[in-house]
Amino acid sequence: MPRCFLIAFLALASSLAFADEYDDLRLKWKDLTTGTGYNPADPDVASKLTSIANAATNHRSSLDTSPSRTFLWSDLASTTTSSHVTHNYNRLRSMALAYATPNCPLQGDTALLADLISALDWMNANRYNATTSQYGNWWDWEIGTPLALTDICVLIYDELSPAQRTAYMDAVNHQVPTPDMTQANQVWKARAVGVRGCIVKSATKIALSRDAFSNVFPYATSSDGFYTDGSFIQHNIHPYTAGYGAALLSNIVPVLNWLSGSSWEVTDPAQANLTQWVYDSFEPIIYRGAAWDLVRGREAGRNSSNPQATGHSLMNSILQLAQFAPATDAARMKSMLKEWALTDTERDFVSARSLSTFSMAIDLMADGTALPRGEKIAHYTFAAMDRVVHLGRGYGFGLSMCSTRIANFESINGENLSGWFTGDGQTILYNADLDAFGDHYQPTVDAYRLPGVTADVTHSKLPHTANSLGPRSKGQSTLSPHDWVGGATLDVYGAAGMQFKGVGVSLTGKKSWFMFDDEVVCLGAGITSSDARPIETTVENRKLNSDGSNAFTANGSVQPTTLGWAESLTHVRSAHLAGTALGADIGFYFPQATSIQAVREARTGAWNDIDSDASTTLFTRNYLRLSFEHGSNPSGASYQYVLLPGRSARHVEHYVNTPQTTVLANTSTVQAVAETTLGITAANFWTDTVQSVGILTSNKKSSVLVRNDGTFIDVSVSDPTQMNTGTIDLQIALDGGTLVSADAGVTVTQTSPGIGLSVDVN
Ligand code: CA
Repeated sequence: MPRCFLIAFLALASSLAFADEYDDLRLKWKDLTTGTGYNPADPDVASKLTSIANAATNHRSSLDTSPSRTFLWSDLASTTTSSHVTHNYNRLRSMALAYATPNCPLQGDTALLADLISALDWMNANRYNATTSQYGNWWDWEIGTPLALTDICVLIYDELSPAQRTAYMDAVNHQVPTPDMTQANQVWKARAVGVRGCIVKSATKIALSRDAFSNVFPYATSSDGFYTDGSFIQHNIHPYTAGYGAALLSNIVPVLNWLSGSSWEVTDPAQANLTQWVYDSFEPIIYRGAAWDLVRGREAGRNSSNPQATGHSLMNSILQLAQFAPATDAARMKSMLKEWALTDTERDFVSARSLSTFSMAIDLMADGTALPRGEKIAHYTFAAMDRVVHLGRGYGFGLSMCSTRIANFESINGENLSGWFTGDGQTILYNADLDAFGDHYQPTVDAYRLPGVTADVTHSKLPHTANSLGPRSKGQSTLSPHDWVGGATLDVYGAAGMQFKGVGVSLTGKKSWFMFDDEVVCLGAGITSSDARPIETTVENRKLNSDGSNAFTANGSVQPTTLGWAESLTHVRSAHLAGTALGADIGFYFPQATSIQAVREARTGAWNDIDSDASTTLFTRNYLRLSFEHGSNPSGASYQYVLLPGRSARHVEHYVNTPQTTVLANTSTVQAVAETTLGITAANFWTDTVQSVGILTSNKKSSVLVRNDGTFIDVSVSDPTQMNTGTIDLQIALDGGTLVSADAGVTVTQTSPGIGLSVDVN
């Protein structure tokens, strides 16, 4: 009998625990949303609590509460623009947050609550219910609004009637019954379906949410997702690590944390990949707190998310992940976070946290066992997304390319309307001037003249197509006809190349970049166009200080600081631009004395120029630009320059007199450079014919680096076309001595007197 009794008791307890678990989970999501563990007496916390209240008060004061209202807010009244639905719910969420956040001045405010619930009922009756049909952008219906509305229901769950909860959640279920689609979109939907499942107490829906992550964790080999080389793709052909990838991270981390310890804990062992993404995908693209524009897709053209804000959003997610990651990973994450937080002179990481992570950030900075990582010196070839990031001492150099695999740029929904050349070999140089690509850079920079790009600069590229979501840029989402785009990494150095073809024009050519310790050698060859329009290669187009007076010297002589100054400088061997911040100087070395067009100009633009929903407020910023002018109809034109980040004018002159690099070849069949102090020879071979340059001979298209430090010889080889199904045969005129190691697929055919390698690149 006691045995039977015991069994009955367990069943009852289990049943009760099961019923309670939804409530526990709901309260946990509420805590994750409002934040916990902060001290309301802390002045920073008090100020954040006041800000939450002020935001709610502002929204409430402009809320139309009349019985006959036809909208909640006059600026969000549209019944054809879907983003207005999301924006309405985001304002209501902000009011719910103020009502529910402990110690907020408006916590439990009944008047606020009455207006909020009345507005929710109005939205359910008039904008978003279980029979509403979509218009505009599906994202607002299936993601934007569900995320806000499920949060609202969690924040004020007890204050809503069962009928209200059912009506609101039926509306969400009507739009997003299951977490479909891919990557960021799937994770967003998994959050919406999971939180909704918790609210309506549906084990099935929470399980759907949990299981969706198993589609996201595995590495991609095509289309969307994370790649083992650190690349992240969304929309099939667009690099998006710090766009959709950041959104994915900021949703998957709290949801995994939320479900941990519950009946729906994610147990898929593939979730370990998430930690690896931090190291391989996210850590490389955060420079002292800033996320590189070259992996932000069309979001680079949004005023609301500049590089620093996006970088800090990524840091915020990594900070949350570090709270429940395995100890060694948590320590490594905290170390990188501390490095970024301490070296970001542009934006304070801790004070910019919302209350949900504020105390975590305080604890991190106070944790004496978490030491800053130190400056990262590394080279990343992201072959699956045609991006390169090179991190040297005091600088970071990024490269944005396109190919048969990756498109030039994305411009949809009226965004990123002047991104035309951002994937055409654009180079981004980060240094101590951390705001170089913030501070209204995007709408003011000359989008036809981006550093690194060879362009048909007078060809019309005005936005000219539109759909219901707004204009899109001419030529957006276009693949290049060329597959030789990519490069090779050897230790912390790298080579990269890009065979290019301008979209809608005849312009073609080949570009190479060789990235060493304190210099980047940039080569162009075979530059040809037959459109009778001028072709230019932009060396640099740098945002200057507020009066535009950064000193610029050419061949050691100081040039005018007048805005509007333009001059064709001749026989230029060296140039130097003083930085806006200490350590932000940039030196230029021209191995062949050359003519350079120099322009110092004030440029004016509005975010609305590049984002159809953005403000028309005009901003003016000053720039100094250096360009090679190849003339009209160039045939086989070339250029060469060496970037010397961080060097003072005097140190630039020293480099020019004793250069560490030599251009070995700059033709449309091979481009090659030697860096003598590092013992490196690097080459891009553009043809499937036997070509020799310096100590290297290759029989196939390839990117090659060889380093001879006197003791060891290291070799790195790649097939940037990703199309070679056979081998690359390489001869190196160095005595190889004894083989130490070789990757699988490499056959060493000879070590002495020269090295012979056959590399299976299939
Ligand atoms: Ca060097």
